[in-house]
Amino acid sequence: MIEILRNTLEIVGKISNCSAGYLLKIDSVENEIIASYNDSANKLYVIKEYIIKLYEQGSFTREELSKIPAFKKLAKANSWNSSLIKRLYSEKKGAAYYLILFSGVKDNFNKDGYSKIQLLVDNLSEIIKMFEGEVIKSDKDAGSGSATYLYGNRLLQSFFEASEDFVFILDKDGNIKNVNDYGAACLDYEASELEGTHLIELVASKNKQVLAESFQKILDDEKLISFEVVLVSKFGNETLFQVNCKRLNIEENVINVIGVGKNVTESRSYEEKIRDLNIRLIEANRIVSIEKQRSKRQKAILAELNRMKSEFVSNISHELRTPLASIIGFSETISSDPNMPEEMRSEFNDIILNEGKRLAKLINEMLDISKLEGGEIELVKNDFDAVKLLEEVIESNQKTFESKEMIITKELPAEAVIIKGDKEKLAKVLNNILSNAVKFTPQKGRISVSALSLYKEFEITISDTGAGIPEKDIPYIFQKFYRVSRPGTEIPGTGLGLVFVKQIVDLHKGFIAIQSEINKGTTVILKLPKESKV
Ligand code: ADP
Repeated sequence: MIEILRNTLEIVGKISNCSAGYLLKIDSVENEIIASYNDSANKLYVIKEYIIKLYEQGSFTREELSKIPAFKKLAKANSWNSSLIKRLYSEKKGAAYYLILFSGVKDNFNKDGYSKIQLLVDNLSEIIKMFEGEVIKSDKDAGSGSATYLYGNRLLQSFFEASEDFVFILDKDGNIKNVNDYGAACLDYEASELEGTHLIELVASKNKQVLAESFQKILDDEKLISFEVVLVSKFGNETLFQVNCKRLNIEENVINVIGVGKNVTESRSYEEKIRDLNIRLIEANRIVSIEKQRSKRQKAILAELNRMKSEFVSNISHELRTPLASIIGFSETISSDPNMPEEMRSEFNDIILNEGKRLAKLINEMLDISKLEGGEIELVKNDFDAVKLLEEVIESNQKTFESKEMIITKELPAEAVIIKGDKEKLAKVLNNILSNAVKFTPQKGRISVSALSLYKEFEITISDTGAGIPEKDIPYIFQKFYRVSRPGTEIPGTGLGLVFVKQIVDLHKGFIAIQSEINKGTTVILKLPKESKV
């Protein structure tokens, strides 16, 4: 009898999703816990006195109990947020039987929640009513054919009908004795079709081992055993079930197993989706933080570009104003003095011409860069002798070398080296590099130009013994408008020469590198692919 009450309480507990449940017999001096679910029976003894008092006053209700501070404390300690107190039966003498359930979920026992267990609660009342005062204290005569057995079966039957899970009873070998209609329908069967089938036949092959092991545990132990298996329907559809099973000794020596399987396919798939979403969320957060950093960097670059642009505007204005001032100044002097000696006039004319050329060079450089950036410049490639081109560029700078009394050394291949490229633009490139070497090298300095014909490339090295470039500036040297700040030395420039050089070398799929040491000198290494003839 008690076993049936315990089992029923356990089923009520499971179906109602409660965290603790008790079957209680109360009279005005004592209360006795007949069965408890999922919790130690002793817990309720803390508030035993209050329960008896409320009972005596005829107000043992959920509302009244929850007003008592000791109960509030107990509820808080156990995270009970809702409860159900149901009188199952009252004896004439004054004692009464109660079902008490607690749950962590608020409103767990509202109308909906209660309707799920109502049938079972009614059955509990009936069983207690029938056995009240007789078998309630002992389970000895709970044999087959006894009233307990019959009520047990009725109870199970009600449970079978009420449950929206896959509920089954197995014999000790694992064959299905009973299964509820709802559960059978979940697997596309009629209940009668499944009776006599071994449960393992419904289990997907990958889970047969799990079932065999779990079944052994169920037979070995009286405890509730939980496991997950995939069941296969009549038409081959697979569903994941969370199964709770327990051994039942209904008749002496006859062992049965009762099981409740909950379809968890959907909740598992939600869990997986949540896991997947979490992973994506982490990834998205990572991307957001990368993007944030990138935009921070871009802002810094933009600020730096702005700074360089303003610097450029002031540089360029200076660069434009200086030659213009000379041009205007000398032209005015010439026109204001018609009797100026011929020699002086010719000298002034030379100055005007040179300054005009300087202006034109500057403007051309700026135009070249803007064309390159706009993608307007296309290479006009032809085969030409790179050694000869190098010689020509050196020759065109001869006058400047002489004016600065520089020593020029050359180590060039004796034979012509034919490469395919845009000769005119490469001449400008070499000229820029060489002009920088001259510009940043003091009077009587040394400049050396060497070249090597490699297997697929023509390598040119231009070194000087000039001012050098600080290590920290080298990475920025090919950026637009970038000029090394050299306080105290006014060397004219726009910071555009090497930008042009790099872009043209890149268009030729070549390579340029700069090595430099401050106050010792600079070496520029340039490699151009030969592309066609060697
Ligand atoms: P700029 O018009 O100022 O010469 P470039 O783009 O040609 O512009 O060069 C950028 C900067 O690189 C120069 O301002 C200069 O400080 C440095 N530089 C280039 N070549 C040399 C060199 N041979 N020796 C020392 N500094 C150099």
